[in-house]
Amino acid sequence: MMMHAYSPIARLGALIPALLLIAACSTNPATGKQSFTGLMTPQKELQVGAEEHPKILKGFGGVYETGDWGPYIRELGLKLAKHSEMPDLPWTFTVLNDAKVNAFALPGGYVYITRGLLALASDEAEVAGVLGHEIGHVTARHSAQRYSSTMAANLGVQVLGVLSKAYGVGGAENIVAAGANLALKSYSREQELESDMLGVRYLVRAGYDPDAMTSFFTKLRAHQRIEGLMQGDANAAEKNNMLATHPRTVDRIAQAIQLAEKNGNGGDGKRNASAYLRRVNGLVFGDDIDQGVIKGQTFIHPVMRFEFSVPDGFTITNRPDMVLAKDKDGNSIKFGGTTPEAIRKAGGMEKYLRYAWKGAPSLRDIEWLDINGMKAVTGSTHQNGLDARRIVIERDTEEYWLLQFVSKSKDTGRLNEPYRRTTYSFRNISAREANAIKPKQVRVITVGRGVSFDNLIQTMSVDEYKAEWFEALNAIGPEDPLIAGARVKVVK
Ligand SMILES: [Zn+2]
Repeated sequence: MMMHAYSPIARLGALIPALLLIAACSTNPATGKQSFTGLMTPQKELQVGAEEHPKILKGFGGVYETGDWGPYIRELGLKLAKHSEMPDLPWTFTVLNDAKVNAFALPGGYVYITRGLLALASDEAEVAGVLGHEIGHVTARHSAQRYSSTMAANLGVQVLGVLSKAYGVGGAENIVAAGANLALKSYSREQELESDMLGVRYLVRAGYDPDAMTSFFTKLRAHQRIEGLMQGDANAAEKNNMLATHPRTVDRIAQAIQLAEKNGNGGDGKRNASAYLRRVNGLVFGDDIDQGVIKGQTFIHPVMRFEFSVPDGFTITNRPDMVLAKDKDGNSIKFGGTTPEAIRKAGGMEKYLRYAWKGAPSLRDIEWLDINGMKAVTGSTHQNGLDARRIVIERDTEEYWLLQFVSKSKDTGRLNEPYRRTTYSFRNISAREANAIKPKQVRVITVGRGVSFDNLIQTMSVDEYKAEWFEALNAIGPEDPLIAGARVKVVK
């Protein structure tokens, strides 16, 4: 969770009449196809990208500014874009401070890559493959096509909205703006094949090994398995991950490489592994401490100096807009903030709880609480087989937090006491406790003689799925040979 405040979503409605006037069908220079980009001219694409860019930054952890990742990715991206059919677009490449593994593009040449994705890559060619693929979505104008259909079909979508404005818990209204919505929508398989072909084309023209596309895909799949395991379902994956937004298969990528190479492209196989591994050594892994960290069942915000714990069986996810904890039965805990202005405007905490909190159901059993010296007000409701409890906490008169507990009626009795313990676990932490929280980092180590897979995964300082994480970071599984002297990534 971040500490930026969000601005309300742009009034997209105003754009529509102008957009409807423009319907274009033209030959795309990258794909050679007639493409209907519906509502968008290239000028409009640039404008849309520029408007959505700040919202993407807010929705995905902001820019990752540590080290020289920004300039490095910009340079690498521009090198590839120069070999595209749109070398003169004002391309923008941004590294997002987001632990999620994702990359996406907006119309107008805005390309994003998360630090979570950079941690998975083992060489420059793998990163170039991802950037080339995203550049392909722009040059083939998939992002524009998608934007056109999204705009026409789906205005004013609210992705989230339980919590309110402060500290990145974007408005009781729209948190993830239209651009983010769009960025997280998946492309069609045909578009993916096309982007892979274009990506391979740019990769090869820039002198990289196109097989990097396949090797990176192996890591994406290993990573997707971890997300599935975390959700208690090996086949499930987060909606906003690279494979969900870019549905691909290993066969399709191989096909794309073949098709691209048949057209006369042959690479000289550059991977640039050692330089990349030097660079990735020290990259923040998982939550950045500025956004709070998850330690087992506890969420700790060392910068804002508080923590709370959720019951066993709940898995915490730290999202830009809220901290969410869910169990496998679908019971959930949401934690986020609201502004002092919103509380004042509502006429105080109780009125905020009753009337202003988004979706305000009529709450009963309104009760004032003292949570470790902090004033709080709570109420509960029952609707459609679900029990919900909401709590507004006043940490001080300039800082308010919201907790929402939802349980299925059959689980309410069982969860009553654990939920109550979570409520009272919310507390301030000392400077010393805060200072003890250090972010995890990717570390590159050399495999010593006689070192086993088990030895290596023991050194992984992740809470769970050590072996799976090692495999996702290195594409080395328990059955694969370990070569003494090889460089591998671990988490410290
Ligand atoms: Zn894609």
